[in-house]
Amino acid sequence: MAGTGKFFVGGNWKCNGTKDSITKLVADLNDAKLENNVDIVVAPPYIYVDQVKQSLTDHIEISAQNCWVGKGGAFTGEISAEQLIDIGCKWVILGHSERRHIIGEDDQFIGKKAAFALSQNLKVIACIGEKLEERETGKTFDVCFQQMKSFADIILNWMDVVIAYEPVWAIGTGKVATPQQAQEVHAAIRDWLKKNVSAEVASSIRIIYGGSVNGSNCSELAKQQDIDGFLVGGASLKGSEFAIIVNSVT
Ligand code: PGA
Repeated sequence: MAGTGKFFVGGNWKCNGTKDSITKLVADLNDAKLENNVDIVVAPPYIYVDQVKQSLTDHIEISAQNCWVGKGGAFTGEISAEQLIDIGCKWVILGHSERRHIIGEDDQFIGKKAAFALSQNLKVIACIGEKLEERETGKTFDVCFQQMKSFADIILNWMDVVIAYEPVWAIGTGKVATPQQAQEVHAAIRDWLKKNVSAEVASSIRIIYGGSVNGSNCSELAKQQDIDGFLVGGASLKGSEFAIIVNSVT
């Protein structure tokens, strides 16, 4: 890893779990031997955040998977940043590809969400990444830089931001980016930050990789110079495998 921050591993549980399965997952995480020198975060579905907060080791912080773009009020079905903090979340994942491409959130809306969440003292895991046809037509950097720009246009304080590069074609497909493919984009994002934000932000920010990370492929990825950790979906639902990924810190 090249960033000066700690290795960071997030588990995105997505829309998975029940009270029982989450009780077991939390017990497995509490029993696991986890490296101390890693920032670890899990993102349960909203309705289980309190259960997880009450039972999970303090070594692991809690993230939400989304949040509303502004203050609470008459916004049926939404959850505000203030409510997330009230219930014990320290982080929120924003711009995940499933919200961009299935739910239809656009770059500007995601940028506004990030700025508002940060203003309320929630830390942000800001996700970007290209679709398969964009990669195949040579647009990977353009797409990632455009998504970065929509964050950079509105974010003033980058201290509480982690960037997650998650190529859409690798998410939930079992088709992981090669260490070289991931490294190439991570280095380009760091360079973009240097030119468009500041050298300090570029060198201190964590840029983590997501997309079919598992216990077998994490250590080669973790060796890459610009990979500062992972955002893990499927493999974060198994405590023992998530622990292997956390402990892949080099
Ligand atoms: P995956 O998901 O590990 O299941 O590919 C990653 C993510 O969506 O963050």
